[in-house]
Amino acid sequence: MTTPAVDEVPIPPFGDARSARWDAPPPPHRPAPERLDEPITALPGVGRAAAARAAGLGIRTVGDLLHHTPTRYLAYEQARPLADLADGEEATVRVVLDRISLRPTRRRGLVIVRARVHDETGSISAVWFNQEYLLQVLHPGDRLLLRGRVSVRPERQIGVKAHEVLGGAGSEGVHTQGLVPVYPATEGFPARRVRELVDLARPDARAALEPLPAWIRERLGLPGAADALVAVHFPRSAAEHRGGRRRLVLEELLVLQLGLAAVRRSEATRRRAAPLAGTGARSGPLLEALPFTLTREQRRVVAEIARDLAQPAPMRRLLQGEVGSGKTVVAALAMCQAVEAGAQAALLVPTETLAEQHLRTLDAVLGPAGIRPVLVTGSVPRGERERRELALRTGTGEVAVGTQALLSEGVGFHRLGLVVVDEQHRFGVEQRQALADRASGPEGEAAHLLYMTATPIPRTLALTAYGDLRVSTIRGRPPGREPVATRWVREAGREDAYDELRAELRAGRQAYVICPLVEGEGAGGEARSAVREADRLRAGPLAAFRVGLAHGAQRPDERREAMRAFAAGDTDVLVATTVVEVGIDVPNATVMLIEGADRFGLAQLHQLRGRVGRGGHPGLCLLFADPATEDGVRRLEAVAQTTDGFRLAELDLEIRGEGSILGLRQAGPTDLRHARLGRDRRELAQARRVAAWTLQRDPHLTGPEHLLLRRAVLALFTDLPRLLDG
Ligand code: ADP
Ligand code: MG
Repeated sequence: MTTPAVDEVPIPPFGDARSARWDAPPPPHRPAPERLDEPITALPGVGRAAAARAAGLGIRTVGDLLHHTPTRYLAYEQARPLADLADGEEATVRVVLDRISLRPTRRRGLVIVRARVHDETGSISAVWFNQEYLLQVLHPGDRLLLRGRVSVRPERQIGVKAHEVLGGAGSEGVHTQGLVPVYPATEGFPARRVRELVDLARPDARAALEPLPAWIRERLGLPGAADALVAVHFPRSAAEHRGGRRRLVLEELLVLQLGLAAVRRSEATRRRAAPLAGTGARSGPLLEALPFTLTREQRRVVAEIARDLAQPAPMRRLLQGEVGSGKTVVAALAMCQAVEAGAQAALLVPTETLAEQHLRTLDAVLGPAGIRPVLVTGSVPRGERERRELALRTGTGEVAVGTQALLSEGVGFHRLGLVVVDEQHRFGVEQRQALADRASGPEGEAAHLLYMTATPIPRTLALTAYGDLRVSTIRGRPPGREPVATRWVREAGREDAYDELRAELRAGRQAYVICPLVEGEGAGGEARSAVREADRLRAGPLAAFRVGLAHGAQRPDERREAMRAFAAGDTDVLVATTVVEVGIDVPNATVMLIEGADRFGLAQLHQLRGRVGRGGHPGLCLLFADPATEDGVRRLEAVAQTTDGFRLAELDLEIRGEGSILGLRQAGPTDLRHARLGRDRRELAQARRVAAWTLQRDPHLTGPEHLLLRRAVLALFTDLPRLLDG
């Protein structure tokens, strides 16, 4: 017997929905456009338990469900008469159930359910494995669609891979005939279940409103909103599917581009910033005192920023450069320029560890410029914190370094001219907006903003995700730092890899062991896998060494202590989740071992390995993985061979789509549901063009044919209200 495909394994009943679908008459279901915004419990027979499982896939509303689109389709035929079936073929049949029972078997753990079914042309046995629950849900007289493989010995039977009961709330043939959609799914919420729910929401899809005006649809040759939604889920042909998908992609990109255009326009027309021209009075001594000279890349970027700061329009610039590329000194020079011009500057970072580290660096770098940075974090004692806040309010504190605590109510500035945000993707759009608002000067001027990121962003993506920012890039690293040697290790090589690791530890070096999220364990799974791995290493391979543990589910002080102990050399090995991705700088750490490396994005792997080899000793990164797919192999080979983070980011985009990279900018405009930028470059270009035309015709999208489009833009850019009016 062949094993059924995973996504076709019928699942045991769980709770409300299934029994409702099969046993109860369907409740009245009145589709209406606003139902797309309602929780999926509005669908007939969908209860709270099912909703909780769906939430694991990011599906909350009926609209979310309909925008959860298939990754592929199973191409099945239509149902055929029983009399036509031949031995060995796979087929769909439409039958009536006569009787059903459990078949005794001698093999332990094997349960066979067997039914007799017929159609007008004959009868056959249907067989299911290990699905005893079917005895409760299938009854004589039920009309069924069955899909499975036919065999004639020892008797004529069909080994069922998928079945569906007809005459319930759902449509016919959703799982067993025609183009059957396969969805991204989880263990608790399998593809079959997604399919059932999408089918239930089909009437709502048909009622979807049309945000695209006729002129755009005509120009681009797109189907209507409702047709497109139905077509991507239940296409009648490949062409119908292509048209539907293209429509969803273009609409999504168009809305995004309209929003970004509106942001740019309002920034350009509405806001003014204090021009902060440099004098060299402070930066001169700073540069003089540096133990190195700036690289050409650094000088170029410093000049770009200096020019922006001197303008009366607020700077909105993203500085990207790999870990270790020397962004900090660039930021220090920008802050120096702000101070020279009589303003204050603030550096915002995501964690306290990072804040403390930056404070040490900036103290050293800014000291010769006569600037003493002030640290503001949640753990600064009250009295001291008040003293520091006073310094910032009166302007005697010229540069602040801190966490979100910097954004709290109590913190006011005398004249804040520049805000630098490090690892900006750790901050949501709302937080950044709060910062931009906070950062207004005495005449209501906006502050200049410099975002820094160590994750390289390909140009296509930058255009989409950061269309509102200008981008400066530092390529390469300062001289003297070798790239980290990277090797991909299959399971068979594990013991040899531990030998290598132990040799490094005995030589006095330190190592990280990074653990991935374990699938199916959901939130917190990452932490659990790290805890288990630490136990395993302490008990076996690394019993002779001191093994610390840091993960996101720890109390912050506990985690900080683990990081501190590692940084101080009190532990030899730090087992961690990706919390080390951002932040700690331990020059003595030379080895990074990454478990389940195929579960990480390329950009993320690259960023992780940047954490080792930061001292004088060369770094080594060992990627543990046994990828099951060819893509997985390609990705690991790419990381092992390529040291250029930009090249890797491009590859990541090509191989796995931008989902991983888009996670960079958390909330808001870049959570693309349909567009895949690696693939949809043409659509992106079209969307940009159409966005420009649209705003030319109707600059504020107030024409009646654009009202729904306007609403879509505002829904996407929730933190940027009224931008279209600006
Ligand atoms: P990033 O923040 O981009 O990851 P850092 O600013 O922390 O990188 O710089 C990494 C290391 O390189 C630091 O120790 C820094 O002092 C050093 N560095 C920066 N610029 C240069 C340079 N031009 N020449 C030599 N070393 C440099
Ligand atoms: Mg840095």
